[in-house]
Amino acid sequence: MLTNKIIVIVNIGKDFFYVMRVLVVVAHPDDEVLGAGGTILKHTKNNDFVKVIYLATGITSRDKSNEKKSMKEQIDSLRNDAKKACKILNVAKTDFYDLPDNKMDSIPLLEIVKIIEGEIKKEKPDRIYTHHYGDLNIDHRLTYSACLTACRPISKKIPELICFEIASSTEWNYPYSFNPNYFINIEKQIDKKIQAMKMYKNEMRKFPHPRSTQNLEKISARWGSVSGTKYAEAFEIIRKIE
Ligand SMILES: [Zn+2]
Repeated sequence: MLTNKIIVIVNIGKDFFYVMRVLVVVAHPDDEVLGAGGTILKHTKNNDFVKVIYLATGITSRDKSNEKKSMKEQIDSLRNDAKKACKILNVAKTDFYDLPDNKMDSIPLLEIVKIIEGEIKKEKPDRIYTHHYGDLNIDHRLTYSACLTACRPISKKIPELICFEIASSTEWNYPYSFNPNYFINIEKQIDKKIQAMKMYKNEMRKFPHPRSTQNLEKISARWGSVSGTKYAEAFEIIRKIE
């Protein structure tokens, strides 16, 4: 029987349903998983919007004299690995900026700042995760500096700017300056974090390298022991505005 009720279907868009908007700013493909893989998954499970931006290619600086693939093929292959990892973590969006790998100091800092400012304007994040200022890797340190400049509290305030550690960079600098004050329980996400990291077939290393499966698990267990959980990711809050 027909009724006189009118059903109105309105396309309110996916954005309406997101609880929180998160931007992850990393130098290289794999940093997002190493630094915050479990946390990203937790955000996306919580219906938060997560976008990851990769500033540098992740390829150019290494000795690839035995590599049969061209530079472009290597970059494309790593980009595919990143997309696969992000799919496991349910990341909504990715962007790749292809800055020179391990040579981000060869371009003006302002150029990097402008990229991040553009992303902030477009995505309006409530929280930004990025590298720690004390990392050994130059691209990581410059990414942090550019984020700090892009997030200066003027017209568009970024409520939360948070740093993560990267196994084989944060702990390899001296003096060690990572002072975590925020821990996220990833007991239910640790398996998928490691699964996502395995998508980066050329970035994983054999034990006892920090980027081995065994040590990624141990690092999470270590921060778990610091925070009274089985597995955790550790962060340093740089600024939080309420
Ligand atoms: Zn990196």
